[in-house]
Amino acid sequence: MQFIETRGNDGHRPASVSFSQAMLEPMASFGGLYVPERLPALGLPFLEAHRNSDYKTLARAVLDAYAIDIEPAVIDEALARYDDFDDPAQPVPVVRVDDELFVAELYHGPTRAFKDMALQPFGVVLSRLAQARDEHYLILAATSGDTGPATLETFKDQANVKVACLYPDGGTSDVQRLQMVTEDAANLKVIGIHGDFDDAQTALKSLLSSTRFQQALGERDTRLSAANSVNFGRIVFQQIYHIHSYLELVRQGRIAIGDKVYLNVPSGNFGNALGGYYAMKMGLPVEKILISSNANNVLTDWIKTGCYDLRGRDVITTSSPAMDILKSSNVERVLFDLFGAQRTRELMQALDEDGFYQLSEEETAHLQAIFAADHANDEDVASAIRETFEKRGYLIDPHTATCLKAHRNARDQALPDIVYSTAEWTKFSPTIAQALTGKTGAHDIDALKAISEKTGLPIPPMIAALFERPIAQPTVIDKADIESEILAFL
Ligand SMILES: *Cc1c(COP(=O)(O)O)cnc(C)c1O
Repeated sequence: MQFIETRGNDGHRPASVSFSQAMLEPMASFGGLYVPERLPALGLPFLEAHRNSDYKTLARAVLDAYAIDIEPAVIDEALARYDDFDDPAQPVPVVRVDDELFVAELYHGPTRAFKDMALQPFGVVLSRLAQARDEHYLILAATSGDTGPATLETFKDQANVKVACLYPDGGTSDVQRLQMVTEDAANLKVIGIHGDFDDAQTALKSLLSSTRFQQALGERDTRLSAANSVNFGRIVFQQIYHIHSYLELVRQGRIAIGDKVYLNVPSGNFGNALGGYYAMKMGLPVEKILISSNANNVLTDWIKTGCYDLRGRDVITTSSPAMDILKSSNVERVLFDLFGAQRTRELMQALDEDGFYQLSEEETAHLQAIFAADHANDEDVASAIRETFEKRGYLIDPHTATCLKAHRNARDQALPDIVYSTAEWTKFSPTIAQALTGKTGAHDIDALKAISEKTGLPIPPMIAALFERPIAQPTVIDKADIESEILAFL
């Protein structure tokens, strides 16, 4: 399988690249992204064949269908990372919470958020590629709290790859910060900055466009890659659990193969939702994909009106910070799939230059045949957490909680809805403690205890242990000092 570019080809880059090239150098012509030249057609026979497959067998079959240029031994090693999840036999449990409400728990990996689903195997593949080519890579990450820990964890002690991770000091939960600053490995550098997540991201972007920085990397024989979901190497692993969750409902006797379901995805950069979209295009029987947002409801408006509109919007800080995003990078891959490269380039250019684009009526209808959406504000989220616990005895995190409004309002048929749970309650304990007890302002450790007391759920040992581990990464600096700090690390 070859990979092509969402905004067409500029005549300087190759007309198509292999999977490994797209993974190592994820930026395509005109600022576009790489996408598969066609999607594998899996269909119902594939689902039948994998009715009883375990997660890794299913994953291997999906990757085989893509015919990617990665050695089978490397794929096996990458998928073996799922053996370190809570239950190796069931890395993604699917839990029935209500008649038509099923929750696929994507957070049973080492850093307790769904980023592990893709980043765990991704880290193995990227480092083995770098080693095989005898090349050295720097991964730069700016994080609001989930991508950072997952990126550090996957590349820890991997040869030929270094990671520099920027986080806003004071802008993450204590658990998220501790997951980063207690990571002790020579190839990892964690940098807290004085500022918010936007400042971290802006600093990273200016670094990427700095010729002095590029030159310094060149002198150190180091190349840059990216581990965020602009990298198709992440997306490829984010299709598997959608198929798995559907088959889980089959195995649980809730549906028969061929029956339609909704997928309900708490969305920020749209990588998770894109994985569901690709699974649907490959033949998974999906009625619609429900997109759930928080108060940063640019995606919801886009799906309801066909207008993607950044004008007059600033990012709003919410209780679901991993979704505090306005420019959602993977929307572009949907535009490409629906409307082609020329139109995608036109639309993305309009967004850059004018701050918005408006799809035609026909295009909007096309979009709405696939997606429906709703958004939840912080009060909706708190009451969803409280009600789900009080009525169903089930604890959800604030991101997952945004999905309950779309579950009620955005379905037009009474079909099962698979809600993707993207984080464990332990990562956002102050918000959850407040929803359950009404008490505000607790530090994580007190919030964790309060939730544990209220719900009877134990604090997982790996989370409790974080508070005892020595701080290995104490650096907190001003934005102006980031470049020299990273160069000193290299
Ligand atoms: C990253 C993240 C999301 C958003 O996922 P996208 O694929 O970027 O849309 C939602 N919830 C949590 C907890 C996350 O870490």
